[in-house]
Amino acid sequence: MTQNTHPPGPQSHALFERAQRVMPGGVNSPARTFDAVGGSPVFMEYAQGPWIHDVDGKAYIDYVGSFGPMLLGHADPTTVAAVQGQTARGLSFGAPTGLEVELAELICDMVASIESVRMVNSGTEAATTAVRLARGATGRNKILKFAGNYHGHVDSLLVSAGSGALTLGIPGSPGVPEAVVADTLVATYNDLESVAAAFAEHGDDIAAIMVEPVAGNMNCVPPVDGFLAGLRDICDRYAAVLIFDEVMTGFRVHPGGAQAYYGITPDVTALGKIVGGGMPVGAIGGRESIMRSLAPAGPVYQAGTLSGHPLGMAAGLATLRQIHENDIHGAIQPNLTRLLSGLEARAAAAGVAFTTQHVGAMFGMFFTDHERITRFDEVAASDTQAFARFFHALLANGVYIAPSAFEAGFISCTHDADVIDRTLTAAESAFAAVAEGR
Ligand SMILES: *Cc1c(COP(=O)(O)O)cnc(C)c1O
Repeated sequence: MTQNTHPPGPQSHALFERAQRVMPGGVNSPARTFDAVGGSPVFMEYAQGPWIHDVDGKAYIDYVGSFGPMLLGHADPTTVAAVQGQTARGLSFGAPTGLEVELAELICDMVASIESVRMVNSGTEAATTAVRLARGATGRNKILKFAGNYHGHVDSLLVSAGSGALTLGIPGSPGVPEAVVADTLVATYNDLESVAAAFAEHGDDIAAIMVEPVAGNMNCVPPVDGFLAGLRDICDRYAAVLIFDEVMTGFRVHPGGAQAYYGITPDVTALGKIVGGGMPVGAIGGRESIMRSLAPAGPVYQAGTLSGHPLGMAAGLATLRQIHENDIHGAIQPNLTRLLSGLEARAAAAGVAFTTQHVGAMFGMFFTDHERITRFDEVAASDTQAFARFFHALLANGVYIAPSAFEAGFISCTHDADVIDRTLTAAESAFAAVAEGR
């Protein structure tokens, strides 16, 4: 595949050589490696709005957005000013602050099912806590998840996971003892019958269903009609907890999350990504009656030295306030439509089998002749060679997308019509490269 790859600049190349000597695989998170598309990663230096700049001075239009947080674009001035202002007041106290209360109040305002919130430091921590809370509150052990859904690198959920685990073809992971995943059941996303079958067998032992309400770690796959409502019904019937992992979808598909977009109320919600405005923040929230099981109000233990970190709270508040007060999603919609219909038209003109899907401000691109993708096996069957060619041709032409056919795309409110049109110009030659099989 090397002849198809766009070579990184000399500074990126040199940094990656050094990185590989002192860091496993040269990166701090597997989703950043170029292993799935060939070549070696581009090292970034700074970013502004829709643009990200590498260490060799090349600029790219960015559709990674730090894998989700950057709904307002990079270096949003209000968010940056809020962090800068807080920095001078002390970095961390290990004692409560007003900022935590304000962000918790805002989350409760914005997300209808959330009455009470615990701040943590990542989406992984939020998912870990959600599972422990559900088990503690129900006194049951089994968790049902979906193949291709990703909930961070939580031991018990690292089974048939998406994102980097999917890209790298790791089915679970060495280091996760069988005993730890013995209570994890795996069902098929968008297939209620597979869920009903699991409940028919284990219903009284299932503490929770854990689901990405829009699957965003196996590319972007929206729920089919009735899927989320069906999960709600099953949980009600068996007194199981419905956990929406909205780490990616929260504030991205709608200011009130996927639960507002689809009108389904989960019991517990995991948040991350946008909630920290680009800082490492996660949160879990839900009804007060279930959240009060968490220590110190209740017996389910969870803690964090840096939880509710002042800089993270300041960034999250500055970002969420803007999403709360402005119609960010409405402003993004015409530009996202312009992007996706433009991509499909150019693919068709080049004779490349290609389709797109989107919900709110997240989208997916599929090299496939299916018109609509609803199943994990359909995603897995898409043409990853074509994706790799497309990826490298875009990179050469100044457009940065995630280096895997299994990641979603993210747009911000700073991606205006001009930026979209530049993207489409780059895409035209990228589709030609795919068609030529270069
Ligand atoms: C990103 C993501 C996580 C993990 O969040 P981290 O902050 O990377 O730990 C969990 N669930 C979903 C749905 C995600 O997209």
